[in-house]
Amino acid sequence: MAAAGGALVAAGQTVASAFGMSAAPTAEESYARIAASAMLPVSETRTGDPTAPAVTSAIGGEQLSSTGSVSSLDPGAEVDVANLTKAARLDEKAAEEDEAKGAALAHGAPQAVVYDGTTYALPTRGQLTSGFGGRWGVTHYGIDLAAPIGTPIYALADGVVDKAGPASGFGMWVVLKHTDGTSSVYGHINRALVEAGQEVKAGDEIAEVGNRGQSTGPHLHLEVWEQDGSKTNPLPWLSERGINVTGPAKAEAESEAHSSSSSVDSSESSRS
Ligand SMILES: [Zn+2]
Repeated sequence: MAAAGGALVAAGQTVASAFGMSAAPTAEESYARIAASAMLPVSETRTGDPTAPAVTSAIGGEQLSSTGSVSSLDPGAEVDVANLTKAARLDEKAAEEDEAKGAALAHGAPQAVVYDGTTYALPTRGQLTSGFGGRWGVTHYGIDLAAPIGTPIYALADGVVDKAGPASGFGMWVVLKHTDGTSSVYGHINRALVEAGQEVKAGDEIAEVGNRGQSTGPHLHLEVWEQDGSKTNPLPWLSERGINVTGPAKAEAESEAHSSSSSVDSSESSRS
């Protein structure tokens, strides 16, 4: 302790001599002087140049242009203003995206993202039991998400209800047409909660998981149709947009059981 105390005194003396003090003051005196100088009112430390532009409490592009003194400012300040304005716009965009995501999650959708200005929601809480692709000579044009009957199904994105009601193979389905020209298809539903022509927002509840049609267990059969009508694999399509479908794709039992409906699915799909 004694050694540490001596070091403190020595440091105080060094600072004191830097301030031009002649006599060697105690450490306490040195600290008191330093503290006093640090507490000088800010106004007394100014140069008092009357030609300097007035400092405003908030700097914004509008304020600066209205003063007419932009040209007198350091060019660097204009860059700062540009950056501030840009940052404000980014904040605004982030706030809008947060709001859109919040709206998409408001009805219970398990996940929502904003991708390229469009809001997307994961359509249901279910386990991925079958992927997209060929099986036993038929093509499964969507993915299967197993969930109990009555589990809510949410709109993948904003759109208009193209079809809602009975469909061969799917039993009951809802088809949404989205603003970018793609469609999302929800098959084997227990019941539709929307009608054709109705506008929906991402995350709106549009149907319930069911076991209707050529289905051997309650699940959502989800398809994504491109603008030209071709059926795309929903998994990478969703993943690219930041929506992650969880659960291992079990290839055997459910897929085999589902294969009978897949052939019907494909005939159903080829009809439209
Ligand atoms: Zn399926």
